[in-house]
Amino acid sequence: MSLRPTIDFLLNDWLAVESLNQRERFADHSRETFDAVLDTCERIAREKYAPFNRLVDTQEPHFDGEKVILPQATHEAHKAYAESGMLSAAQDADIGGMQLPYTVEAAANTFFAMASVSIGSGLLTVGNANLLMKHGTDLQKQVFALNEFSGRWSGTMCLSEPQAGSSLSDVVTRAVPDGPDFASDSLGPRYRLKGNKMWISSGEHELTENIIHLVLAKIPDESGKLVPGTRGISLFIVPKHMVNVHGELTGERNDVALAGLNHKCGWRGTTNTLLNFGEGKYPVGGAPGAVGYLVGQPGKGLACMFHMMNEARIGVGLAATMLGMAGYHASLDYAKGRPQGRPMGPAGKDPAQPQIRIIEHADVKRMLLAQKSYCEGALALELFCARLVDEQHTGDVQAADDARLLLEVLTPIAKSWPSEWCLEANSLAIQVHGGYGYTRDFPVEQYWRDNRLNMIHEGTHGIQAMDLLGRKVLMEEGKGLQLLAARMQATMARASQVPELAAHAQALGQALAQISAATRAAWATGNPSDALANAVPYLQAFGHTVLAWIWLDVVLTAHAAADSPARTGRLAAMRFFFHYELPKIGAWLQVVSQRDATCAELSEDAF
Ligand SMILES: Cc1cc2nc3c(=O)[nH]c(=O)nc-3n(C[C@H](O)[C@H](O)[C@H](O)COP(=O)(O)OP(=O)(O)OC[C@H]3O[C@@H](n4cnc5c(N)ncnc54)[C@H](O)[C@@H]3O)c2cc1C
Repeated sequence: MSLRPTIDFLLNDWLAVESLNQRERFADHSRETFDAVLDTCERIAREKYAPFNRLVDTQEPHFDGEKVILPQATHEAHKAYAESGMLSAAQDADIGGMQLPYTVEAAANTFFAMASVSIGSGLLTVGNANLLMKHGTDLQKQVFALNEFSGRWSGTMCLSEPQAGSSLSDVVTRAVPDGPDFASDSLGPRYRLKGNKMWISSGEHELTENIIHLVLAKIPDESGKLVPGTRGISLFIVPKHMVNVHGELTGERNDVALAGLNHKCGWRGTTNTLLNFGEGKYPVGGAPGAVGYLVGQPGKGLACMFHMMNEARIGVGLAATMLGMAGYHASLDYAKGRPQGRPMGPAGKDPAQPQIRIIEHADVKRMLLAQKSYCEGALALELFCARLVDEQHTGDVQAADDARLLLEVLTPIAKSWPSEWCLEANSLAIQVHGGYGYTRDFPVEQYWRDNRLNMIHEGTHGIQAMDLLGRKVLMEEGKGLQLLAARMQATMARASQVPELAAHAQALGQALAQISAATRAAWATGNPSDALANAVPYLQAFGHTVLAWIWLDVVLTAHAAADSPARTGRLAAMRFFFHYELPKIGAWLQVVSQRDATCAELSEDAF
């Protein structure tokens, strides 16, 4: 079973992505060039990623005392990915990029995430370099970003610390000016950093000649104290190996040391590290302290980081989606081949009758259809959000601003909904396999383990939920929510004209009204601790409503097409979502609307 027809349908039939070619930035592209990118990525994923997914799970990265060793297959996959040009897919042609719409880039990356999410496709490197293209000086772009886009160097994001995960205002890594001439370094104001960064993905390896860490740290005030809160946080480029202004390695190692590898539940093909900055293991110029070059203004580090959060979070949502999809395809394949049991009714009791395949049982179909509705729905949502990113960057002023606001509201959903429900899809894929699914002889348990990360990193589920209900639906006087409601209403208006879809349009209208009422009720006392105590059930209900809308919109396109098994499948997945999933929002919103304090008020000793 191939993913490609689903991608082609969503990109071309539903999102009409080819119309982007009318914009100046994408004028050199056509359906043919988009297809060529998808073909290349599909092929590299098939040849260099998929065959090694189990290998990278069993041959975890290990430290030989000097270097972190990864399987040869990972080196080859990274090389093929870099050579494909995908690291600079979105960049300007004059710096070697493809000027590809983000929608197509995101779609092309789905093949890698599905084939082997943990070998990775450079999400962090691209995010790191994109940030520098936005906030770096010309020389920082030239020296650091361009060498990342070429694949010569790779990048990390160093935010978390052992004691500061969700609460980044508590980071304590310090950055002090490096000598009296610190401000005049051509690579940017030069500081010495000292501190520990925890959970850093790809923090140490030999895949690339150098690793460019982007590090959040605080510059102490005149009294030597760290400024409390997020206002004091600045951003620094800290290369593993020191470089000169021409982008050449100077031969000196920077003072960044691997303190240990984390041994993860899944996603084992990517190293995860505890890094010590500035402990003196690799003194630079004879002095301890990791050399870092300031990016942007002091105290504005988090703002720079958040600039690229939308795309990073769409990336996480897509990874979760594609892991779910991998499990769906595997379990569908299994269900078509596994004979077990007999049909319901008298004939089923006759052991002389041949067994049927499990895909013929209604309950197995339920599990498959649930996976299809979660994963194909999530894929549509992610590509829709990616299309909004293109609109934000290349649309006219009004359209760009609308896209910005819609993304504000939709990004917590794009990150969190697949993380929860495509993980549930992975659990169902195991269930379809029965006992075999619980063994390492089949791939589905690995998909679940790999996917379990996504509710944790890039802002946990709980933090995303509070961001949605505490900030996003309120910001700019609720304009983002109103805009989203208007988009949903437009879909409902179209669907209500189609007899087969009219009841679903009505159900979506009711769900939307419930969300609006619950948002008001949650905030009725104006007290954040009342409203946010049930932020996660709100996120779940909001996400299910968004997904119902996405499915209805997708099906409006599918419905207009000629009859085919794919059309029947899409209509069934939409119906499944409306009949089996959307009604769940009632229970979730009840505790939100009543500001139910069962959890919030329970004393610790009652647990
Ligand atoms: C495999 C992996 C890769 C990672 N990669 C990177 C990376 O490359 N760079 C990087 O900087 N970080 C990375 N992280 C770190 C990741 O972003 C953090 O783990 C995450 O932000 C949570 O922080 P924490 O682990 O300290 O958990 P905590 O913040 O301690 O959270 C624990 C629990 O408490 C809840 N909680 C915390 N605060 C609140 C609150 N105020 N209200 C309600 N609930 C709350 C959380 O939702 C969570 O359920 C990675 C993590 C993992 C596991």
